[in-house]
Amino acid sequence: TIPTTGAQPQPAFPFPSTPAIPPQTTALPTASAPPPTPSIFGLDALFNNPVFAGGIGLAGLGAAAAFGRRALIAGAGLLRRQLLVNIEISKRDPSYNWVLAWLAQPRDNRGFLASRLTRLRNLSIVTTTKSLSPRPAMAEGESGGGKIHADFRVQPGFGRHVVRHAPGVYIAVNREKAGTATTATGEPHETLTLTMLWMHRHVLADVFTQAHALAQSFQEGKTVVYTARRMEWAVLGKPRLKRPLGSVILDEGVKEALVKDVKDFLAAQQWYTDRGVPYRRGYLLYGPPGTGKTSFIQALAGELDYSVAMINLSEVGMTDDLLAQLLTQLPEKSILLLEDVDAALANRRQRDPDGYTGPTVTASGLLNALDGLAAGEDRITFLTTNHIDRLDPALIRPGRVDMMVRIGEATRYQAGQMWDRYYGDIDEDHSGRERFLKRLDELGLFGGDEKNPEVPKRHTSTAAIQGLFQFHKGDMEGAIKNADALIPRTFEA
Ligand code: ADP
Repeated sequence: TIPTTGAQPQPAFPFPSTPAIPPQTTALPTASAPPPTPSIFGLDALFNNPVFAGGIGLAGLGAAAAFGRRALIAGAGLLRRQLLVNIEISKRDPSYNWVLAWLAQPRDNRGFLASRLTRLRNLSIVTTTKSLSPRPAMAEGESGGGKIHADFRVQPGFGRHVVRHAPGVYIAVNREKAGTATTATGEPHETLTLTMLWMHRHVLADVFTQAHALAQSFQEGKTVVYTARRMEWAVLGKPRLKRPLGSVILDEGVKEALVKDVKDFLAAQQWYTDRGVPYRRGYLLYGPPGTGKTSFIQALAGELDYSVAMINLSEVGMTDDLLAQLLTQLPEKSILLLEDVDAALANRRQRDPDGYTGPTVTASGLLNALDGLAAGEDRITFLTTNHIDRLDPALIRPGRVDMMVRIGEATRYQAGQMWDRYYGDIDEDHSGRERFLKRLDELGLFGGDEKNPEVPKRHTSTAAIQGLFQFHKGDMEGAIKNADALIPRTFEA
């Protein structure tokens, strides 16, 4: 049956989804009243709606949480600024590699050093290879054979690391690539950021001192050789063991005179400063190849505890601009070595027999580099050439070249000295040396014999003598017997 009363129908569902609507709202509006908004859209109804109200509450909570979060972040930022220290090291800075090496140095299994390694999980490997038969000038005692010796060095990889420096002292390390920027050598630019508590900031000094000491220990007793890589100086291979000056045998007195001159120059800085003279000195070593020019410069650098910064002017791609740029950033405490300076000829392009027409260093570019504006202040420069006759005479002028020395073919004095270095211990009465020198005389290798025109006029190089002695290590009779191997090949034809 249909109910006829005005009584509201009772919903069958026992739990109304909306609360009971108060009776007055159900009254029909009067005719004059504005059209009613359906009650479900009414604001008060809206706020009375528990779902909506709950939503508002949630939103409020959300806003509060967001605010709280922001406040936390700001607070953390503030704390970080107040409590933490950030040190950013750019890859361009010399300490970059020291600190990387320090972070990854080999450790024993005890103490905090060991735990430092265990926390570095993300490592990268740097491999340096060196051929066992490099330019022989730099590596006495190494034999040929084209073998490659590889060295692996582990470094912290990119990303974040935590390092325990000492009990209770932690350093957060972040190594990252800095955007798309690249260094002049074309590698991606990188930064290393060390973060630590403000109260631990004193350990920073330790970190850098230790890292620097570590870097120095790698170089102790060694000579670092820099070479131009694109627009920058880069260390050529690993630092080499210092070459003792005694192992380079020049003609009588020559080495001593050169070393004395360089040492006097180094001691006379004040003299130059007082007179306003640029504190520079240039040396030109010339003569045939394989006579010890490069070896001498390397040994001298070792003696003075200097590094060698080497540029080969005949290298493809070496230009006036590049030379000037490299000279403005010469590594500290280094001897500048410009090899094959005869390559710097204004008209080289036309003369080049191999058809090479690319840009090269010109004579004026070289002069500018030596004493023009681009020339830095304090500097020792060694120039080498095998062709003195091809040099621009303007080059040989005080301020550019202050001392010129010919390093020539092996003399009797040098051959004797070299013999003593190789066989001195087994040739006690020097009779072997006398026989060896006599044999070289017979072969005419000291320029022939004035009294005997039968003897050919020949010369040999110290490099060739070294080769012979190394071939007959500990076997002086073999060296004497095979001395004719010293005859230059051109004379055989
Ligand atoms: P340069 O620069 O004159 O061409 P290097 O210094 O490159 O000659 O010498 C080439 C090789 O010969 C090196 O292995 C070096 O040890 C050896 N050598 C040449 N001359 C001498 C020398 N006077 N004393 C000792 N070793 C020498």
